[in-house]
Amino acid sequence: MISRTGNHSLNIDEKCCLACGACVPVCAFDAIFLRGWGIEILDDECTLCGLCVQVCPTGALNTNED
Ligand code: SF4
Ligand code: SF4
Repeated sequence: MISRTGNHSLNIDEKCCLACGACVPVCAFDAIFLRGWGIEILDDECTLCGLCVQVCPTGALNTNED
């Protein structure tokens, strides 16, 4: 799943996501949650703080600000 907010985005590489859930509790904005075998990001809530990117053990998350 790819989530975009304006020109900024939080990208999820679904092939790398293990649905481990590690990224969910670190989000202070409740913008990320498990859904099925992956995660979902709420565009309107995500501030691109980057915390979930740091805790993901597989590098499935990354921010893109181009
Ligand atoms: S970048 Fe920050 S605000 Fe956005 S989903 Fe990850 S932890 Fe939550
Ligand atoms: S921490 Fe990474 S591997 Fe785990 S659910 Fe989140 S995106 Fe997927």
